[in-house]
Amino acid sequence: MPTDRNDPGGSGAAGAPAAVRDVAQPLVPRLRRFGTTIFSEMTALAQAHDAVNLGQGFPDEDPPPPVLAAAHAALDAGHNQYAPGPGIPELRAAIVAHQQRRYGLTYDPDTEVTVTFGATEALAATLLAVCEPGDEVVVLEPTYDAYTAAIAMAGATEVRVPLTPPTVAARAPAGGAGAAPERPAWHLDVERVAAAITPRTRVLVCNSPHNPTGAVLGAEELDAIAQVCTDHGLLAVTDEVYEHLVYDGAHVPLATRPGMRQRTVTISSAGKTFSCTGWKVGWACAPPPLTAAVRTTKQFLSFAGGTPLQHAIATALALPDDAVAAVTASHRVRRDLLVDGLTAAGLPTTRAAGTYFVTADVAPIGWRDGAAFCRWAPEALGVAAVPVTAFVTDPAPVASLVRFAFCKPEAVLREGVRRLTEGVAGPG
Ligand code: PMP
Ligand code: GLN
Repeated sequence: MPTDRNDPGGSGAAGAPAAVRDVAQPLVPRLRRFGTTIFSEMTALAQAHDAVNLGQGFPDEDPPPPVLAAAHAALDAGHNQYAPGPGIPELRAAIVAHQQRRYGLTYDPDTEVTVTFGATEALAATLLAVCEPGDEVVVLEPTYDAYTAAIAMAGATEVRVPLTPPTVAARAPAGGAGAAPERPAWHLDVERVAAAITPRTRVLVCNSPHNPTGAVLGAEELDAIAQVCTDHGLLAVTDEVYEHLVYDGAHVPLATRPGMRQRTVTISSAGKTFSCTGWKVGWACAPPPLTAAVRTTKQFLSFAGGTPLQHAIATALALPDDAVAAVTASHRVRRDLLVDGLTAAGLPTTRAAGTYFVTADVAPIGWRDGAAFCRWAPEALGVAAVPVTAFVTDPAPVASLVRFAFCKPEAVLREGVRRLTEGVAGPG
C-alpha cells in the first residue's frame, strides 16, 4: 500500500490511504449529513412531474410594480458595481426607518445595520462570527435547515428545544362529510428553553414567525425567552423573514423586550415581504460590537451582493405601509383557502398564525409516514409538499405531518386542493 504524507502509516480508519479517501469523500465529516436540501429535492420532484408546487416556499408572482421598476431603474442608472460591504447607504437608511416606524427600534445606519445576501448569509455570518467550536446554540425545533448547517460550519453544537405539535382537534370540521377537524396551533413551552441552557450555551436562535409550523410567538413567550437570555448572558439571533406575514396577532421583535436590544442580532430579508425570494437582499441590525463581528465574517463570505436590487429594496421599504398590508391580507385569504381545502379533503390542518406555510396531518388519509407521502404525491397526485420530519431530529412525534405552502395564486391553490381531494377520494 502506498504511503501518504498525511497518513505515514499508509492506511486510515477506513483502510484506504488518506489521499485516496479525501478525493473520494472530500466533504468534511461534520457536513456530510446535509446532502441536498429538502426544498430543492421537492421542487425537482414537482418539476419532473409537473406537479403543483406547494413545497418550497416561493411566490409565483412578481414583486409589486414600483419595486420592479426601481430595480430596472437602478440597472439603467449604472448601479452595477460592488456596493459598500455593509450595504448602500440608501438601503441602510430605509432599514433604520422601517425598524423605527414599525417597532420603535432605533439603529445607527453606519454602525448597527449590515445588508447581506439574503437572511441566509446574515445567519451564517453571525453564527460564524460569534461561535467557537464547542459552544452550544439553542434553536427551536422543527428547525429551519440553514441554522443547523451554519452551526455545523462554525463547529458549534446545536441544542434543540421542541415546539409541541398540535394533537387535539380544536374546531369542528367546516367542510362537511369527510372533512377533518382543524388542528390547534403549535406551542412553545418556554420552560423547555430555560432547561436547555448549560454553561456552554452562547447563542439562542429565535425564529418567529416560525418556519415550518407557522407559529407566531407572543410577547409573553418572548419575554420568557428574553429572561433566559439576560439571566445567562446569551446572545440572541432572530430570524424575522416572515415579519409581515402575520395573520393572527402581531409580530414582536425579540429586540424590543427588556435587556435584549444590546444582545440581539435582528435578521430579516425582503424576499417574502416583497415577493422577490430570488433577489436575496437581507439585513442584520445589531449594536456596534455585534455589527462589527457580523461584518468581519460577512465581508469574506460575499463581500457585497446585488447592488441594483439593494436600490430596489430601499424603494420597497419606503412604500406606504398599505402596500405591505395588502400583501399580508392577500396571504391571509390564501391561507384560509388552503386550510379549508385541506380540512375538507380530510387532512387535519393547523391554521398558521403567520408565514407562508400550514402543517397538515396525512395519517387520516392513510399515510403514517409524511416523507413517503411527499415523495409519492408529486407523481401520483400532482402535488408537492415538504415533510415536517425534514426539520427534526426525532421524527416520531411529527411523522405524519406535512408542510404545504400557500404563497401561490388562489387558482393554483384551488388546483392543488382539487388534485389532493380527488387523489384521496379516488380508487385505491
Ligand atoms: N429563514 C427562514 C425561516 C426562511 O424560511 C427562509 C427562506 N426564505 C430564510 C431564512 C432565507 O431567507 P433568504 O432567502 O432571505 O436568505
Ligand atoms: N425558505 C424556503 C422554504 O422554507 C426555502 C428556501 C430554500 O430553498 N433554501 O420553503
